[in-house]
Amino acid sequence: MIISRQCAMWGTKLKSEQTPTIEGKINARFLLLGVVAIFFTSALLILVFHRSFDKQVKKDVQLVCTQVSAAYPYLPTQNHLQQFASEDVRITLIAQNGAVLFESMGDISQMDNHLQRPEIADAIKSGQGHSRRSSGTMGIDTYYCATKLPDGNILRISCQVSNLFAAYYSAYPAVIILLCLVLFASVILAFFLTRQIVRPMSSMAGHLDDLPENVPYRELIPFAKEVQQQQKKRLENERIRQEFTANVSHELKTPLTSISGYAEMMEAGMVQPQDLSLFAGKIRTEAGRLIALIGDIIKLSQMDEPVDNSDFAQVNLGKIATDVADLLLLQGQKLGVTILVDPCAQDIFVLGIETELFELCYNLVDNALRYNRPGGKVEIGVLAGDCGITLRVHDTGIGIPPQHQSRIFERFYRVDKSRSKQTGGTGLGLAIVKHIAIHHDATITLVSMQNEGTQIDVTFKK
Ligand code: ADP
Repeated sequence: MIISRQCAMWGTKLKSEQTPTIEGKINARFLLLGVVAIFFTSALLILVFHRSFDKQVKKDVQLVCTQVSAAYPYLPTQNHLQQFASEDVRITLIAQNGAVLFESMGDISQMDNHLQRPEIADAIKSGQGHSRRSSGTMGIDTYYCATKLPDGNILRISCQVSNLFAAYYSAYPAVIILLCLVLFASVILAFFLTRQIVRPMSSMAGHLDDLPENVPYRELIPFAKEVQQQQKKRLENERIRQEFTANVSHELKTPLTSISGYAEMMEAGMVQPQDLSLFAGKIRTEAGRLIALIGDIIKLSQMDEPVDNSDFAQVNLGKIATDVADLLLLQGQKLGVTILVDPCAQDIFVLGIETELFELCYNLVDNALRYNRPGGKVEIGVLAGDCGITLRVHDTGIGIPPQHQSRIFERFYRVDKSRSKQTGGTGLGLAIVKHIAIHHDATITLVSMQNEGTQIDVTFKK
């Protein structure tokens, strides 16, 4: 028993350790958001810069091409094109058939026909052509601009530039350090932001009395209300339980004290032999009261267990009414009270637990007899109506004063304690009735007039 309880405790501990924290979750999401934001922003920036860089280089190459082509007609020889070339700017002159006529870098005899080059083909076709080719070496792009000259030859300017990726590649260690710094800053920021979000939630737990003032986020109000209600319910249950325990102790103590008192007197020889049977009878009555009380307490505690709907079956309420009347017939005769069962109360079924429904009916009829007068009547009816099926117990007894009517279903509440005890009451009969009605989702209606009688209806939904 102890081992299994310890295992359960470890299980709970392990489970709570495995449960993710809200702080950890928000932290992780903030970080993810930061990393994704950094990644996409960098990618977008690289794209935008790359496009504008590309445009600018194209423009520059075209400008050189326009300037050289403007100067070309005035050059004494084609070889004079060399003066416009530089380390970055390479000039090539190509004939209409694709043969290279001049090249500022390299030997033209080694060069193949250029007709297939896209910029040359475009220039021949439309007067001007552009292209960009990445060289075998990573990070170097060559921009070409070709224009058709008045003599039919093609002038091509080319320019080699390191592209943006090369620029990033060279700045790679700095980029890594920067990324680490940004990541570190994100971790710190995420940590503080998360704490700022979560802290009010943690402090909310201790201040659930003032709602919604102490709830930091509107979304939490329903949850906080639910928790508050549960807390109130728990406290109320705790109060009822404590009250019940105190009442039970008191109720058990009274008959036990009497039994002990009678026994003591008999032991001390204070009882005359002819009175012995009288005293034994008193002890038996008190013991009977104890047994009845313990029986009712057991029934009530069993009803505190959760309801299992699979035990429900169709129960003949009419038969239960007749059986209870038969069982209490003798007691009715002793009290001079007639029990009548409505003849229409035949074979009317409700969904429920037979033993509980019998107990409910028994308690109601038993009360109707005990709080009655000689010559009185008890009528049991089972009625099938639009609202459901009603079990009705009507008596012509002493009735219940209006100020007590709302409390008689409480445990140990009695209008007249001495009458209840005299007739063998435990003060728990109607509390059991209420519990059974709740189990069966039934409603109880009480109509009572002092000195005229009482009628209790228990209506089961259809
Ligand atoms: P008890 O064991 O004392 O009868 P119950 O829980 O059955 O306890 O009933 C609570 C109290 O309600 C009774 O003590 C009695 O005062 C009152 N009561 C219950 N039923 C009737 C009734 N049919 N007529 C008058 N009073 C009743």
